[in-house]
Amino acid sequence: MYDYDLLVVGSANADLVIGVERRPGAGETVLGSDLALHPGGKGANQAVAAARLGARTGLLARVGDDAHGRLLLDSQRAAGVDTAGVLVGGAPTGVALITVDPSGDNSIVVSPGANGRLTPADVHAASALLAASRVVSAQLEIPLETVVEVVRGLPSGTRFVLNPSPPRELPEEVLAACDPLIVNEHEARVVLGADAGATPEQWAGALLALGPRSVVVTLGEEGALVADASGTARVPSVKVNAVDTTGAGDSFTAALAWRLGAGESLADSAAYAARVGAAAVTREGAQASFPTAEEVAAL
Ligand code: ADP
Repeated sequence: MYDYDLLVVGSANADLVIGVERRPGAGETVLGSDLALHPGGKGANQAVAAARLGARTGLLARVGDDAHGRLLLDSQRAAGVDTAGVLVGGAPTGVALITVDPSGDNSIVVSPGANGRLTPADVHAASALLAASRVVSAQLEIPLETVVEVVRGLPSGTRFVLNPSPPRELPEEVLAACDPLIVNEHEARVVLGADAGATPEQWAGALLALGPRSVVVTLGEEGALVADASGTARVPSVKVNAVDTTGAGDSFTAALAWRLGAGESLADSAAYAARVGAAAVTREGAQASFPTAEEVAAL
């Protein structure tokens, strides 16, 4: 019996957003809008997305002993995420300083803060949480050695899902554990290095050759592509009126991980996840845009 359908191991950030007419150059000061403060970070986003769908979800992360940390804990609990695995202290909560201009282009500075202090020892100390989880998902906004420790500590029978974002080349032992590795085009190209190829089918084939048991390539409004030893299949997207794509990938990954844990096939899980991602782009924001299962069904 598992306590969690999904344990997310990853980052939690406070997103500080200011709208500007023009993003400042070196040495320049510009005036902007009122500050907007949102809970974010890929780990925190995935956990909220899964819990909102109804998955029993836990988060293993680190925040600072500060107001941003409390904001993140509150937003997790409000969504129904179990925060027993959220460690507090060691550094300020991670922050993303975001300026957005009227065309939607942004400039972002990230201070990883406490995310950078989520250590392999923290993962080791949380081995009971890993053992209590049907699926464990991770991203790369925490130290890579911490993700390596997750992979080493996975009980047999617990499935591992990785979205390598921000992307980098990955060690073999991490790649071999992924089922699936979930990437967008940019992440696929970085993970693959120089010879990525031109089509999603080529990226998926080349990624599979690196060792993961399965691969999912997300393609924005084009949907997604799934690939494993049995073959490759396109997953159509759901036509929606997109207003803000922030968090689409995080909600897609959370939904996919949850449905896989429930025993659905890769293709069926990805089709469901595409509905969740589509629903998320119809609303502003990241966590605030994530749908409930009822909203997905109504889409
Ligand atoms: P990321 O945010 O990581 O780049 P994508 O933009 O590929 O990820 O989005 C993840 C998934 O969300 C897509 O595979 C798709 O299913 C869904 N999605 C994203 N944008 C749209 C859109 N404009 N219309 C419909 N579905 C979308």
